[in-house]
Amino acid sequence: MPEQLPNNFLAVLKQAEGFVAQEILPRSERMRHGEPLAALGAEVRAASKRVGFFYKTQPEAFGGAPAGALELTMLREYWASANSELTRFVFGPGPGILHEATGELASQFLKPVMAGEKRGAFGFTEPDNALRPTWAVLAKDELTLNGQKSYVTGGDTADFLSILVNVEDPTGAKLGTAMVVVDREADGVILDDTFTSMEGGGHAAFRFEAVKVPSWHMIGKLGEGMPRALANIGNVRLMVAAEAMGMSLWALGFLNQHLLAPHRTGGTLGDKEGVRLRYAELRIQAFAGRSVLYRAARRADGPDNSVNEVIAAKVFCTEVAGTIIDWAVQLVGGQALVVGHPLEALYRRVRALRLVEGANDLLRLNLAKGNLELGKGDL
Ligand SMILES: Cc1cc2nc3c(=O)[nH]c(=O)nc-3n(C[C@H](O)[C@H](O)[C@H](O)COP(=O)(O)OP(=O)(O)OC[C@H]3O[C@@H](n4cnc5c(N)ncnc54)[C@H](O)[C@@H]3O)c2cc1C
Repeated sequence: MPEQLPNNFLAVLKQAEGFVAQEILPRSERMRHGEPLAALGAEVRAASKRVGFFYKTQPEAFGGAPAGALELTMLREYWASANSELTRFVFGPGPGILHEATGELASQFLKPVMAGEKRGAFGFTEPDNALRPTWAVLAKDELTLNGQKSYVTGGDTADFLSILVNVEDPTGAKLGTAMVVVDREADGVILDDTFTSMEGGGHAAFRFEAVKVPSWHMIGKLGEGMPRALANIGNVRLMVAAEAMGMSLWALGFLNQHLLAPHRTGGTLGDKEGVRLRYAELRIQAFAGRSVLYRAARRADGPDNSVNEVIAAKVFCTEVAGTIIDWAVQLVGGQALVVGHPLEALYRRVRALRLVEGANDLLRLNLAKGNLELGKGDL
């Protein structure tokens, strides 16, 4: 197996297997019988706090016991391979874009986020028809924001939005980009639309009309907005790659059972050579994807720059997972497309991964730039 984990990680994995068996799967069953996700999720969160998984994504300063990239990758892949909506309640909220917040920004936003009392959403993507990218005029200690964000996951129910803006002075002179925290209920924050994407995620589109925000709501320094936004997105890419491979493992496990079960033609589908060729190809792809994933995770834990390796993992693993789950649907046949079948849901979920946290072709362009112009990564 490509992961080749040290013994202490294997012990954590064993604990994770016990957690899924005792805390996740029975509740997934209860969910199938109609119990609400939120209540079951709260139970999972409480159980996760008891055994300590909850704290692995939280900084020590907030009582956390943060795990490194390899351990988190191993766990994220494993949670995803359980194919249950409930595993998203296992890890506690991380600081995300607020990780270096200090002063009032820390006390009013970061601390409540870490305590689970407030929730933020990330506003980066803009509509194609925007007249100009979201901007803010800085005068004295106040920003006045105008513009739009078109695809803010969880924005409708968030307490605040962290949005990327171009800042200028009152004469229109450019001062640079900034990530700015905006209270969801501030005057001039207008919810234009809410919508659901095919994997089930809830999103919102916002308009900002002369929204007044104190300048201490800027995360970091003026001019750091774009690099901070991209770094935040970058941190999530390894997570997406791990989820993609976990979903692939679940699909392959399901396929195994299907290929070994009796088929109406007599014997099993797995007896057929043509099916075996396809199946072997999927196993090869999963092996390759997981090798890339674990190599990138080890690199991310080391001292060297891992930007290009993590991009490679995000692109390769999400595309491999798309192929694996697509072929799992094909080999299971029409029943896999019946609404409510677990592969039907997985097929919808895996599609989003090639767009989120950087569309794959844009990441390919970033990788080329990193290699050709910036000398980043040994890839
Ligand atoms: C489930 C989901 C959740 C999301 N959550 C958030 C969120 O919380 N916050 C947020 O800000 N955004 C979010 N997004 C938006 C997401 O970041 C964007 O959809 C993504 O970055 C692509 O941007 P776009 O949709 O504007 O497409 P475009 O930028 O228009 O790109 C469309 C396609 O064109 C091609 N393309 C574009 N530019 C180039 C180029 N220069 N060279 C080559 N090819 C190119 C690529 O194939 C690309 O996929 C989410 C999207 C999804 C699907």
